[in-house]
Parts: sequence; C-alpha cells; structure tokens
Amino acid sequence: MENLNQATVRIHSFETGGTVDGPGIRFVVFTQGCPLRCQYCHNPDTWDVKGGREVNGKDVVAEILKYKSFMQFSHGGVTFSGGEPLLQKKALLPVFKALKKEHIHIALDTAGTTNIDEDTLALLDETDMVLLDVKHLYPTEHQKLTGLSNKHTFDFLDVLRQKNIRTWVRWVVVPNINDTQAYADEFADKIKQYPNVELVEILPYHQSGVFKWKELGIPYALTDTPEPSKELIKELSIILENKGIKTLYAR
Ligand code: SF4
Repeated sequence: MENLNQATVRIHSFETGGTVDGPGIRFVVFTQGCPLRCQYCHNPDTWDVKGGREVNGKDVVAEILKYKSFMQFSHGGVTFSGGEPLLQKKALLPVFKALKKEHIHIALDTAGTTNIDEDTLALLDETDMVLLDVKHLYPTEHQKLTGLSNKHTFDFLDVLRQKNIRTWVRWVVVPNINDTQAYADEFADKIKQYPNVELVEILPYHQSGVFKWKELGIPYALTDTPEPSKELIKELSIILENKGIKTLYAR
C-alpha cells in the first residue's frame, strides 16, 4: 500500500458546507476523472483523468481536518465525490485510513464503476457509508445513458450488501428514460433485495450543468428533455414507500 506521503490524488475541487451529499454538514472532495459519460452529467469538467490538479495525500487530509470540529458538531463528515472516486482507490486508501484515525465519518459518492479487487475491498473497509448512483436498471439503457453497462454498479451493490455497508441509493429521474410508475415498481423490487440500503434519494433531472457542456464544446443530447414535476417525484416516492423503502426528495 502507498503511504500517505507518497499518495497523490487528482482533485477537481474541494467544497465546504455541503448539505446534499450525505448526513450532516459535509466537506466534499470532488475527485478528477470519470469513466462514464452520463447524458445529464453536471460536472463534465471532472471527466478528463489528466485534468484537475495533483494533491499529495497528506495535504488532502490536512485540508479536511481544518473543518473537523465543524463536521463533528453537525454529525457530518467528508464525502468523496467526483468524477468517479473509485478510479483513484489505491491513492485514496491511505487518505481514508488517516481520516479514520481522526474519527472522521467518510462517505463515498460513486456509481461503483470499478472492478471488485483487493483495493476496492480495502477502501470499503475504511468507508462508513456509500451514496450509490443507480442510473438505470437495464444494462442496455444504462449503456445508452452513460456509455457503459450497469454491471459494475450492481456487482458493487452486491459487495456493499455482503459487507453490510450503510448505503443510500440515488436515482436521478430523467423524463422518457427512467420516469414511469412501472419503472419505480421494478426499482423498488430490486432495491428491496438489499437490506443494507437505508433509503433511496430521488433527484429530479435538471439542466443546471448545461453551460459547462457548452463551454467544453460537447454536444448535449438532452436539450429537449423537460425537468420532471414535483408531483411526479412524489408519485414515484409513494410507490417506493408503499413497498417499504424509505425515500428522500426535495418537497
Ligand atoms: S458518473 Fe457522475 S461525474 Fe461521471 S459522467 Fe456520470 S454524472 Fe458525470
């Protein structure tokens, strides 16, 4: 294993005071690099694995610890998001270990796009909770929406169940792609198979990141896709709740 001084993490940005990336108030580390190309991505500037800046593991930890009392007071912690943090699982392991020694709560915001190997398992041993993006239940639709099949996501969810890791599943509702009541029904049946999933966070698709696509000169496929209504989000949530799944969504 790399030690903390040798570890280099490629970072897009740090954000303090996050309230939407796990419980309490969070320090959010946006890691650089993502193997997916989600059609609705808000952060296409995190895709390039050579972008961002390299930060020594020790400095990542030091930056986070500046906010230790604040995080602990609010029962929050740090969330590693992206991009896809699992692309840098080797470098993140000593960072996670150092944070655990300081009793910092660690959440991993991921689509699970990685192989299940020793590095993945070791990182999960240091992870308190996972925010897992389930972008589509069907492999072919997932491929259309993100560029890759959902095999990794569900293999990862299987491991989270085996390790009984507290998990919040995130479902971004995209009109005409994954927004029907029948889909919600199937979604609920699938998620019910995972007792480690504490809740499903239902997030309406929105276009607030489109300006970044324009800046990067990348064509945006969902220009004509409307944002789902609050009523629809509530209806989908009721379907999940009726099957015994707790939901979280903006009311
Ligand atoms: S996984 Fe996240 S960062 Fe990567 S393309 Fe999808 S939405 Fe964007």
